[in-house]
Amino acid sequence: MPTYAWTVIGAGPAGIAAVGRLLDHGIAPDEIAWIDPAFAGGDLSQKWRSVSSNTIVGTFLSFLNGSAAFGFSEAPRTPLQEIDPEDTCALGLVADPLVWVTQRLRERVHVLQTTATSLSLHNREWKIETQQRELTSRNVVLAVGAVPKKLDYPHLDEIPVEVALDPEKLADQSLDGATVAVFGSSHSSMIVLPNLLRHPVKRVINFYQSPLKYAVYLDDWILFDDTGLKGRAADWARENIDGVYPERLERCWVSGPEFREKLDACDRVVYTVGFQRRHLPETPQWGRLEYNQQNGIIAPGLFGLGIAFPEYAEDPYGFGQYRVGLKKFMDYLDSILPLWLRYGP
Ligand SMILES: Cc1cc2nc3c(=O)[nH]c(=O)nc-3n(C[C@H](O)[C@H](O)[C@H](O)COP(=O)(O)OP(=O)(O)OC[C@H]3O[C@@H](n4cnc5c(N)ncnc54)[C@H](O)[C@@H]3O)c2cc1C
Repeated sequence: MPTYAWTVIGAGPAGIAAVGRLLDHGIAPDEIAWIDPAFAGGDLSQKWRSVSSNTIVGTFLSFLNGSAAFGFSEAPRTPLQEIDPEDTCALGLVADPLVWVTQRLRERVHVLQTTATSLSLHNREWKIETQQRELTSRNVVLAVGAVPKKLDYPHLDEIPVEVALDPEKLADQSLDGATVAVFGSSHSSMIVLPNLLRHPVKRVINFYQSPLKYAVYLDDWILFDDTGLKGRAADWARENIDGVYPERLERCWVSGPEFREKLDACDRVVYTVGFQRRHLPETPQWGRLEYNQQNGIIAPGLFGLGIAFPEYAEDPYGFGQYRVGLKKFMDYLDSILPLWLRYGP
């Protein structure tokens, strides 16, 4: 059974960052195993290509240039580099370079195109079972991503969020005369609402819990960087939610007296209420494992990164948020990798 120094599970942006940074830190390529069923740029590339980003292009470029091992300076010029670095863009423009970087890293490290199913610690090494075969590794990085959360209103016919966010996929839904409930006030909500209103729906009712929150760009930090609306979603929300509701849009507070009646008037539903960690490989020695939200440590030699295990950090005014985004994963990794390199079993 082959033994590696490091195994990275997941090849979304976080897994890509982990492999790149391990190579940058001098871990030999043949000491690194990388596991993913697709190696296609993660969910950003496979589900969210048509979504307008909340991050500016310059921040994506700084992620792509952030690891020497990515070799991005040698990549063919991409449309992302033609856009004003201060603008936002469709996530597809970020996905293509991510796929290019993935291909480049795949040529160097040992790749297993499969799903990891279980992890256990024996004799100071992690045994990793996959759908194909077993391997052992002194350290493992879990970068398995997250799936959209749902609420439980089974009488409503759900439009999955990845469909509602994608105008082409949404066009295949029969929405004539539908009354669509949209739960949430997130970046995704503010993209789904105008997408739906472009169709001949009868009504869209946006069910919300609290006032909208907007990111504010200050000199060297961003207020509500992770929880606030940005880019086109923020522009749309200011005009249409905190401004004048477009025709056929209603809003309803989920704790208000009208909630039940409004919900009963709906026949379709979209949940834009955040994300939850994807199902992890089993860890039968311990059951469900927790992670340290400040350094990603799960167990000796087992670490979490990316949207499944986000850093929790406070802004200069003490407001705490989970840090999610490509550049944030890279910055976080830079601060914690020196610890991880010394915290083996
Ligand atoms: C609508 C929307 C807009 C966004 N906009 C931005 C933005 O503007 N800027 C920004 O920086 N971020 C943005 N994000 C966030 C960003 O897309 C995600 O946070 C990021 O893609 C998560 O990367 P990840 O690598 O943690 O997870 P994922 O991309 O989900 O990758 C996880 C990978 O792990 C694999 N995997 C899972 N389990 C296993 C297993 N057991 N074995 C092997 N492989 C496994 C999966 O198949 C997948 O390939 C946005 C997200 C959404 C939903």
